[in-house]
Amino acid sequence: METLHGSPGWDQMWENARLATFDPAVRTPYGQLDRHAIIVRGDRILAVAPMDSPAVEGFCGQIHNCEGRWVTPGLIDCHTHLVWGGSRAAEWEMRLSGVPYAEIARRGGGILSTVRSTRAMTEDELFAAAVPRLRALMAEGVTTVEIKSGYGLTLDDELKMLRVARRLAESFPVEVSPTLLAAHAVPPEFTGRADEYVSLIVNEIIPAAAEEKLAEAADVFCEQIAFSREQCDRVLAAARAHGLAVKGHVEQLSSLGGVTLIAKHGGWSADHLEYLNHADIAVMARRGTVAVLLPGAYYFLREQQKPPVEELRTAGVPMAVGSDLNPGTSPFASLRLAMNQACVLFGLTPEEPLAGATREAARALGRADRLGTLAVAKQADFLVWDVEHPAEIVCSLGTNPLRERVVRGQVENAHP
Ligand SMILES: [Zn+2]
Repeated sequence: METLHGSPGWDQMWENARLATFDPAVRTPYGQLDRHAIIVRGDRILAVAPMDSPAVEGFCGQIHNCEGRWVTPGLIDCHTHLVWGGSRAAEWEMRLSGVPYAEIARRGGGILSTVRSTRAMTEDELFAAAVPRLRALMAEGVTTVEIKSGYGLTLDDELKMLRVARRLAESFPVEVSPTLLAAHAVPPEFTGRADEYVSLIVNEIIPAAAEEKLAEAADVFCEQIAFSREQCDRVLAAARAHGLAVKGHVEQLSSLGGVTLIAKHGGWSADHLEYLNHADIAVMARRGTVAVLLPGAYYFLREQQKPPVEELRTAGVPMAVGSDLNPGTSPFASLRLAMNQACVLFGLTPEEPLAGATREAARALGRADRLGTLAVAKQADFLVWDVEHPAEIVCSLGTNPLRERVVRGQVENAHP
């Protein structure tokens, strides 16, 4: 048994558990350990020990009996746009009745419609709109969530979105990784002048977000319909210079070489990757860049090109799965749905998206040292499930088998 020497405090033990640890040191599928206990001191895991070990038998403190239930690490949604104003359901209806995207955009739809609505809303209004989405994620086990800006596209509106993300973190038992995505779209007032907008991002928005500590990372949308490789390079270099981590929406609709750009800047993750090519896979493997798969958008847009999962697997590139929750292309506040889609649409095994929403998602958010597995010294974020097998978390949707949600050692309501 390993132990952590922490300051003495109020110890708790979750006993009689079947653990899906996702700890690479545990060499079983899911990192499975039967008849084990998790001992927690304060907000940390003090020990992971068999039921017949002295640490468990001699334990003094509060005991939670899991009665043989499965326990997993808290789920981590490493890619969301969950703060936005307005709705794009009418646009979806148009799309389904055959109206082409260019026509929808001409009628004021698309991402810029969300920008208009988001700009028009106050911080309080955006917060109120985001709460049900966050609650939905938390209700199915999310304990850490990444939240991007990107629908403000002005200095004030981008910071407004990031303040909403901060307020969500302060208001709910969930950890938030806030990301500046000012390079999401060229705002209408800069049409035909994308380079000038990039200068605004580089000279004003990034410095302000970093100064106010409102973002820990910067993201870009590297795509023909958004920003070029050169423009993204400027944004990412500025972000690094201001101490922000970087990541990117890359190779979603075409292959522009965004992945090599992310790798060059030492990025945490490259996200989407439907058009990832062979050379880029080798770069990711070498640099340890996490591949974040987002099957929600693939499904909702009825895309045909799938990310090269088998090649990523063979190359040993870590794969995470995110909900990509956003109003236009993945309006699903469910990480379990995304995990299910990753299996059905992209061919992952159930273990892969579960690892991809715990251990690998923690890595995609620069938190691998502290989150994502059930192991000594990790933060005590974990979930107790009413399932026969962990694959059921991914397989069966519509009912919620989450029984208990533990965040920083505190038992939270499973259905907040
Ligand atoms: Zn996205």
